[in-house]
Amino acid sequence: MLYSYTPDAFAAARGLDIKTSCEVLSIDPYKKQIMLKDGKNGVAASAAYRKLIIATGGRARVPAVSGDPSGLLTLRTLADADKIKHRLMNMPSGKAAVIGASFLGLAMAEVISHYGMQVTVFDEGGSFFGGTSDKISCEIKEYINIHNVKLEMNSSALAYDGSSLFYRGGGGESSLDCGLLFIAAGTEPESSLAASAGIETAENKAIDVSLKMETSASSVYACGDCAMMRDFVTGLRVYLPTAGNANRTGRFAADAAAGVKTRFPGVMNASAARIFDREYARTGPSPEMLDKKGMPYLQSFTKGAVKASYMPAEDRDIFINIIYSPEGLIYGAEIFGAPGSAKRIDLITEAVYARNTLNDMLYMDFAYNPNLSPSWEPVQQALHIAEARRKSSF
Ligand SMILES: Cc1cc2nc3c(=O)[nH]c(=O)nc-3n(C[C@H](O)[C@H](O)[C@H](O)COP(=O)(O)OP(=O)(O)OC[C@H]3O[C@@H](n4cnc5c(N)ncnc54)[C@H](O)[C@@H]3O)c2cc1C
Repeated sequence: MLYSYTPDAFAAARGLDIKTSCEVLSIDPYKKQIMLKDGKNGVAASAAYRKLIIATGGRARVPAVSGDPSGLLTLRTLADADKIKHRLMNMPSGKAAVIGASFLGLAMAEVISHYGMQVTVFDEGGSFFGGTSDKISCEIKEYINIHNVKLEMNSSALAYDGSSLFYRGGGGESSLDCGLLFIAAGTEPESSLAASAGIETAENKAIDVSLKMETSASSVYACGDCAMMRDFVTGLRVYLPTAGNANRTGRFAADAAAGVKTRFPGVMNASAARIFDREYARTGPSPEMLDKKGMPYLQSFTKGAVKASYMPAEDRDIFINIIYSPEGLIYGAEIFGAPGSAKRIDLITEAVYARNTLNDMLYMDFAYNPNLSPSWEPVQQALHIAEARRKSSF
């Protein structure tokens, strides 16, 4: 449920019948019927459908860490947020650990550090956000290190006893005293309702859907964090639980269910984050996905500025990594830098959807004002450099 948009306001604005505190217990795809339980009065009922859209979302993935699970904190619901706030408000300043150096983990590390605690972030991998390139990872590491947050990359949490976290890292097994452990290890699809109705799911248990978001059951669609999606560039089935993807696949599933003829182009893994005062964004398939599909690619890393050099700014750096085919077709990018950096990723997303090459973008007209960009837009500059490197690589 959204916090800023109440069910009553939503119902009034959209003319919908919204039943909150009402759990769907099961789906009968043969009788085209769902079983419900009203959480307010406990009454069970059934309801018939002509079309059904499953949007049951996801839940926090909790890796196997032995010890008392009640001491672990995760964030998915408003109740989780209240619990975290209560713990932080009543915590004597001390040490905290976060498992997962991705969107939620780094955001929580920042929040916890604002409460005066020394935070250590652990991640099984050596990169951020589930796969930043080496050069962007170095920039992020350097930036995080100047804040009150320690990084333990390539480390796996083993056990937590409420006051110490035991982990395995580069130097073998070790422990960290910490009164608070926050888990941000990704999202798992909440698909048990669909699976128990016999609806097909993928290896990761997300609901399998066609390009029209149809499930394996007739007249049943699925969208958002509970469903698989199709990657625009590679055509691979992917699980990308983001709000943007949930919104777009939700709208598309509704159109498809209503019989509106429309085409869903696929998702691009476009996502953004703020890390202290800097921003990160990425779009396009990961190098692993391109490898899996057998699509060769090149990468070009550049450093630029978000403002003209003569305008005052505490921080003006922007780091851009462009990913493209040997023929120059743009596949995606990563951006990290000063405020104003992240939303520049949308230029690249649009270029990929339009199937632009580096060359197509070189002389496009980008708005200029010295407070907002140098006279050459940094993304365009990065594309110029990528094209020059591409040509010289032959
Ligand atoms: C702290 C946090 C911050 C985030 N920030 C971002 C961000 O900045 N950008 C971004 O792109 N994404 C962000 N996300 C991810 C984003 O919130 C999700 O991708 C998005 O909410 C998924 O929407 P959804 O409708 O698929 O699922 P959800 O929002 O999870 O909604 C699913 C709903 O289904 C209900 N439900 C489940 N089972 C049943 C049942 N059996 N009967 C009845 N109801 C049921 C649940 O109660 C829930 O209300 C964030 C997530 C979290 C947790």
